[in-house]
Amino acid sequence: MPKNNHILELRNVSQIYGSGNQRFVAIKNANLVINEGEFVTLLGPSGCGKSTLLRIVAGLQQPSEGVVLYRDKTLLGVNPHAAIVFQTFALFPWLTAQQNIEIVLKTRGVPLKQRVARAIELLSLVGLDGFENAYPRELSGGMRQKVGFVRAMATEPELLCMDEPFSALDVLSAEALRGELLELWLSGKIPTQAILMVTHNIEEAVFMADRIVVMEKGPGRIVADLKVDLPHPRQRRDPNFLALVDQVYSILAGQTQPEHIEMGAAPGEPGRVRALPHIIINDLAGLLEYLDNIHDNRADIYRLAGELRVDSNYLLHLIEAVELLGFATVTQGDIYLTPLGKTFAEADLLTRRKVFATRVCRLPLFRWLLDMLRAAHKQELERDVIYMALELQFHPEEAKRQIETAINWGRYAKVISYDDINEMFYFQPGDTTLCNSEKN
Ligand code: ADP
Ligand code: MG
Repeated sequence: MPKNNHILELRNVSQIYGSGNQRFVAIKNANLVINEGEFVTLLGPSGCGKSTLLRIVAGLQQPSEGVVLYRDKTLLGVNPHAAIVFQTFALFPWLTAQQNIEIVLKTRGVPLKQRVARAIELLSLVGLDGFENAYPRELSGGMRQKVGFVRAMATEPELLCMDEPFSALDVLSAEALRGELLELWLSGKIPTQAILMVTHNIEEAVFMADRIVVMEKGPGRIVADLKVDLPHPRQRRDPNFLALVDQVYSILAGQTQPEHIEMGAAPGEPGRVRALPHIIINDLAGLLEYLDNIHDNRADIYRLAGELRVDSNYLLHLIEAVELLGFATVTQGDIYLTPLGKTFAEADLLTRRKVFATRVCRLPLFRWLLDMLRAAHKQELERDVIYMALELQFHPEEAKRQIETAINWGRYAKVISYDDINEMFYFQPGDTTLCNSEKN
């Protein structure tokens, strides 16, 4: 039998959700090999299918097409050699930290005495000695996360899968826990043979992983697979570290498509509805002002997160928004202001609103919303009507957030008003008529 060190292999894996005109390709033709000894991260914008891919790897979900091989055998059903750690750990609140671990050991048939000893040992591995008898509510977020890790570890998984395990933690706890996980992994104190971690944090990926697999959306697919050849412990200020961060940023931010694809469709039209990036308009203005004030109105994207003091994922949302609105353009890891973006940055509030309004009116989602409202009785529209339409296109949570963002942007641009108490969209006298004609 041919021997290789593949732990996991995905061959032409595709995931399709829904059917008919709701058919949505979440992942298209993914091919991926994870070898023994590798720490692989999956990186990409939200919605590109990272969590879906992770669930497929863990066998929690069967792909619509393609094959999953685990140590060269086709995987059917839940992968018994994998454990999955989610962003927020679902600990049993009525059990202590130690009992939360013991229960996993019990399902694996470990006898009582060994269960107790092993649970105590595992907890001390992550520095939780003394907290064995604490209930989840008595632990900090970081500590609960550790219990979650230990619980995944207790199953002694060959393949440890993690879905954004640090993103719900505050900065310091996240950094501490990253260090502890790396220490466990690099020292071989855990039997785990490979790690697959989903993250949207570029620095985190470069800090921890041996390989970075980059995904893009529309449809979700793998677009790059980079090796990280830096020795541990890695230094975030090391030029090689920064060069790699820069490279990943360029891959992620440089994928602009022609405008008609980029802008997406309106709900009810054929094609994908493009989600509005969830950003605060003040931050968008801040980014444009920053660019307006620097030489050439051009910046290296990877430096921006630090300069603007925002998290890298949020920065990518901001960049997506300014591109979508035509305020800036991205090429090869650089972002620069367009003349329109410059106009916005240098204008007073009233002019800013107008510039913003002309751009917002071009977005298919807004065009649709405005058309619906104009056609509605008394030109009033219940939030629920919009929600139900958006729910056909987005996850319920995402549909809610799309509405929030549309309300914020619409209010800022003064193209649409919203009554929070009655949960109704309406026009008020000051609202602009810029969006009036069907074709802008
Ligand atoms: P990520 O983790 O990269 O944010 P996901 O894997 O959660 O992405 O989702 C990828 C896409 O598939 C998203 O557009 C999401 O709305 C959609 N999606 C995920 N799960 C389902 C599902 N169970 N039914 C329908 N669509 C889904
Ligand atoms: Mg996800």
